[in-house]
Formats: sequence, structure tokens, C-alpha cells
Amino acid sequence: MDCIFCKIANKEIPARIAFESDRVIAFHDLFPQAPTHVLVIPKTHISTLNDVPAEQAPVLGELVSAATTIAKELGLADAGYRVVMNCNADGGQSVYHIHLHLLGGRHMAWPPG
Ligand code: AMP
Repeated sequence: MDCIFCKIANKEIPARIAFESDRVIAFHDLFPQAPTHVLVIPKTHISTLNDVPAEQAPVLGELVSAATTIAKELGLADAGYRVVMNCNADGGQSVYHIHLHLLGGRHMAWPPG
């Protein structure tokens, strides 16, 4: 399967890894939208949030849990941070392997553009 995030998870292409567990890996975004911008992904390929099988739903909690761990490790927890998951075209998804964006290090407006 030609999926760039699978290749990162399999260490076939380089990335700046921020966190890794049995089922989850996180790495710094190549085009950061904030001083800290980390992507948290399941190692298993799932294309979009619409495609998460019921038996794999717990991995979504693991993505959030990993994000909070990383936020604390990177010193973002007290000031705050944002977690975002984009789904399909209207959601702004460009890479079709689900991922959670962890953004921090600056104030973020709401609502997003
Ligand atoms: P999304 O638009 O929600 O699908 O987010 C995809 C993200 O992946 C974007 O923020 C990209 O900058 C990021 N990205 C794409 N390719 C890479 C890569 N090779 N390493 C790190 N981040 C990447």
C-alpha cells in the first residue's frame, strides 16, 4: 500500500519521532502550523475516521492519550493546546491514514478557518 504514514510507521522513510507505543506512533509535522505540531497515528492503516472498525475504536482513545502525554512532555499542558482530526475533503484531510494533530506553543483562535 502506498501510504506515506504507513511508511513512517514502518520506519521506511524518516520522521522526527515524538512518541511510540505498540499501536501508536507520533512525529513532528513537516509543515508545522504552530511552534509545536505533532501528528499522532495508529500504526495500523485506517483511511478516514469513517473507516474505523468497531473493534479498533479503542485506538482512538490511545491517540488522544498519546497526545496528552506528548503535550506534557513538551511543556504544553499548562498553557494549553489543540487536538484536531480532519475527515475527508470538507474536513481538510490530505493524508488518508487517520491522524490526530497536536498543536501548541501559540494562542489559537476559535472558530478555525
Ligand atoms: P491533514 O491535512 O489533516 O490530512 O494533515 C496531513 C498533515 O501531514 C499535514 O499537516 C502535512 O503537513 C503533514 N505531512 C505530510 N507529509 C508528511 C511527512 N512526510 N512528514 C510529516 N508530516 C507530513
